[in-house]
Amino acid sequence: MANLLEGKGLAEKIRQEVTQAVAGLKTAGIVPKLVAVQVGENAASAVYLKSQKNNCAKAGIEYQLRTLPADISLDGLLAEIETLNTDQTVSGIIVQMPLPSHLDSRLVQAQIAPEKDVEGVNPANLGLLVLAKPRFVPCTAAGVMELLATTGVNLYGKEVVVVGHSEIVGKPLALLFLAQFATVSVCHIATSQRGSLPDYVRRAEVLVVAVGKAGLIKGEWIKEEAIVVDVGINRVGDRIVGDVEFEEAEKRAEWITPVPGGVGPLTVAILLKNVVTAAENQRQSR
Ligand code: NDP
Repeated sequence: MANLLEGKGLAEKIRQEVTQAVAGLKTAGIVPKLVAVQVGENAASAVYLKSQKNNCAKAGIEYQLRTLPADISLDGLLAEIETLNTDQTVSGIIVQMPLPSHLDSRLVQAQIAPEKDVEGVNPANLGLLVLAKPRFVPCTAAGVMELLATTGVNLYGKEVVVVGHSEIVGKPLALLFLAQFATVSVCHIATSQRGSLPDYVRRAEVLVVAVGKAGLIKGEWIKEEAIVVDVGINRVGDRIVGDVEFEEAEKRAEWITPVPGGVGPLTVAILLKNVVTAAENQRQSR
């Protein structure tokens, strides 16, 4: 039976470190501040925004949510972001996704000053991942790596399979694994369509799944003693489940994340950490 790879304890540890660092910055006269920009109202974002606000308050980080009209023009939104870029009291900026369809999210993400881009979505920060010199790593991907580190696994030469290739989870993870000399396979919709997904999963010593489809990964595909990190969040009836069939997978894996309670708590903890890093970097460059 697998050990549970839970994120709560690690997230709490990160939050404590952040709280200490914030206190240190405050004695130097700096109050870290995170501004979240939301365009229109989105029910799906509400939970994450509330969690950001509460977590920032607990850590002593100032938090501001700026909700802009759903019909704002691209130029209007870019100008709002530029104002935040040049505001010396703002340490970190996040733009809540998804944006209304008339706004090109790539142009918007590229507008965030790289040194304030605490979600690591600006192409400059994503590019640094290719160079294995990360500045800000997308929070969930960073959380997965920190959680994996707690197992003591040495990724050098390991067969790692990442299912899902989004820009905030799968792709950055693939680069982070490569930087540690893991042998990485990245699976996506075409892998499934070709019928090859079970073959890839079966050989994974470390498996990370970030798709958003309950039960996509059958428990019987899991390699004996694998480490399984399930990023997926799916509502099934009144339950939240991941993408991996947990009951069967836990019989085979050495480590497995529960859903909820695995990667989830880490995302916002890493966000706070990134805000503090941004504030510290900006202080040094002043
Ligand atoms: P996206 O929808 O952006 O990406 C999903 C990925 O899964 C895509 O790369 C897609 O490939 C791939 N995919 C879709 N269907 C299949 C399939 N049948 N077989 C293999 N791959 C497939 O999602 P995110 O990366 O943003 O999020 C993924 C999941 O993680 C979601 O459930 C989300 O809620 C959760 N999540 C959890 C977080 C946390 O804090 N725990 C934070 C962020 C996300 P293609 O594009 O080619 O179709």
